[in-house]
Formats: sequence, structure tokens, C-alpha cells
Amino acid sequence: MNSILVVGSVALDTVKTSSGRSVEALGGSATYFSLAASYFSSVHLVAVVGEDFPREHRGTLERRGVDLAGLKAAKGKTFRWSGKYGKDAGAATTLTTHLNVFKTFRPTLSEVQRKVPVVFLANIDPELQAEVLAQMQAPALVACDTMNYWIDSKPAALKKLLAKVDVFFSNDEEAKKLTGAANALQAAEVLSGWGPSVVVIKKGEHGALMKVGSKVYVFPAYPLAHIKDPTGAGDTFAGGFLGYLASSGAHDDIGHLKRAMAYGTTLASFNVEDFSTKNIEDLERDAIDERFHDLSDRMSVPRADDLLKSRRAVSV
Ligand code: AMP
Repeated sequence: MNSILVVGSVALDTVKTSSGRSVEALGGSATYFSLAASYFSSVHLVAVVGEDFPREHRGTLERRGVDLAGLKAAKGKTFRWSGKYGKDAGAATTLTTHLNVFKTFRPTLSEVQRKVPVVFLANIDPELQAEVLAQMQAPALVACDTMNYWIDSKPAALKKLLAKVDVFFSNDEEAKKLTGAANALQAAEVLSGWGPSVVVIKKGEHGALMKVGSKVYVFPAYPLAHIKDPTGAGDTFAGGFLGYLASSGAHDDIGHLKRAMAYGTTLASFNVEDFSTKNIEDLERDAIDERFHDLSDRMSVPRADDLLKSRRAVSV
């Protein structure tokens, strides 16, 4: 089993969707990522919380085996985010972002943490993402995510960071905003020119695309007619993707990259079925694989000659 170091937010989220409201619940980019990745790889979390962070939330991460040696408790308040979604549960409208203890967080990684082979720079200040990356000793794979807040406030730091990243995750709106491109395909083209050899662009219920070298691969979402809370879908997707890819040990292999996309899609689909992290705290690996296989079956289109062959085999 491979291991992943993640830096990002650990938060208390207040969210309103058409299914209801959740107040000061466990959230944050690193939280969603860690829970999802923990089903495939061991995870070391680097983040900060305030004195008000409920003990039970640490327990939620610990029960999934997430290493919390890098989760500092600082004087002050935990990061808080609040947002709301329209009826279609598309992109969130951010109501408030209070960085609180993240304003001054400057982690120093331990010797063990520096040697972790796979790094995920989850959504947080790109300068903090860069500081963590600079402390890593020759990681085999570096992946990164961000969001509008940082695209608006620190675009230059973000672009500089992308030059050092292998895999970049973004949703289509953010990718278009960051690059100025007219559509997701053009945005992926621009982003791959900035550094990442793999660019993943997520389009909510319309699936996701992955650009590897000059080729673009397309993936549907897992079909769900009712979703309760899309918060963290992107981070959960990245957790499923990277958790699986790290465990495969073959980061450049297109077959494993495609499977990683399907595991990302699968984990994200579980996450949106309930508020906060509720539905990804205690999944059975069999349930994950069952949905993964269901998704893979729905995606595959048979070749005509294969259909003919199987018809002949039946009639012999
Ligand atoms: P997603 O829905 O995948 O974009 O992720 C939403 C999560 O990101 C929520 O749990 C928030 O706590 C967290 N979040 C929101 N805004 C920020 C921000 N500016 N920096 C870091 N994390 C954030």
C-alpha cells in the first residue's frame, strides 16, 4: 500500500441545499480527500484546526486510519466556510470564508512526512501548497486542486505552482476562469501547457474529462437522480482518484489512470448522497467496488465484431 501526504483545509462548514441545511459540520478539502483516499492508501494529513474543533471529528478521521500527526491545534478558531446551492445542486455560491487559524499556518514537515511518495495539494492558499511541496524529498507524484477563491486572490502563485505539478484537478468553471478559455477542452489544453501531464476537469452531473499528453478521455458521472449535498465532491473525487492511483504503483499507465477516474467518480457519487462527510466515513470496500463495476459496465460500448463473435459462439 502506497502512502499520500495531503495539505489542505479542515473546516467547519455550514451548507444549505434544496434537501436541507447542515450547520458547522465536518468539512474541508483535506478532510474529504483523506476519507476518500483512505479506502485505497495510507494518508498523512497536514492542516491546522482551532481550539473549537470538536474531538469527535478527529475520531472520524482516525477511524479511517488517517495519520493526524500533522494536524496541528492552534490558538484561535477553526477555518469556517458557508455556502448554498440552487435547485440543480450545481456550483456552490460561497457566502462566507473565514480562514481563521489558516492565516498564519506555516507547517514544518517531519522526516517521515517529507519522504511520502505521493503529495496532494488540496484546495488552500497556493503559497501554503508551495511551501509544503518545497519540503518534500523528490516525490514520485504531485497532484493539486484549487477553487475560485484562490484563482481570484492569488492567480500568479497558482500558475507558478502548476509548473511543479503532475496532476491538476479543476471543475470546468474554475478551469475556464483560470485560463480565460471558452470551453473545458480549450482550458485543459492551456493548463497542460503550464505543466501538469494529467489534467482532470470535472463537470458535475455531466461527468469529467481527463487530458493525458495530447489525448482527451471522457467519463460520465454515476447516474443519481437525487443528491443531498454536493459539498466536497471535488475533493472526494481527487481522494478516490489519487488513493487508487497511489495503490496501483503505476502512475503513468493509462489503464490505471482510467480506473482512477472511475474510482474518483464512484467515491464522489457516495459523498453527494448525504450531508457533510456522513456517507464516506464508513463505506465497505465491497460496496465501493460494486458501484465501480456498475459504472464501468454502463460506460463500455461493445464493438460490432465482438457482438457478432458472441452471437456465433451462442449459436455453435
Ligand atoms: P468542493 O465542494 O469539492 O469544492 O469542496 C468544498 C470544501 O472546500 C468545503 O468543505 C470547504 O470547507 C472547503 N473550502 C471552501 N472554500 C475554501 C477555500 N477558500 N480554501 C480552502 N478550502 C475551502
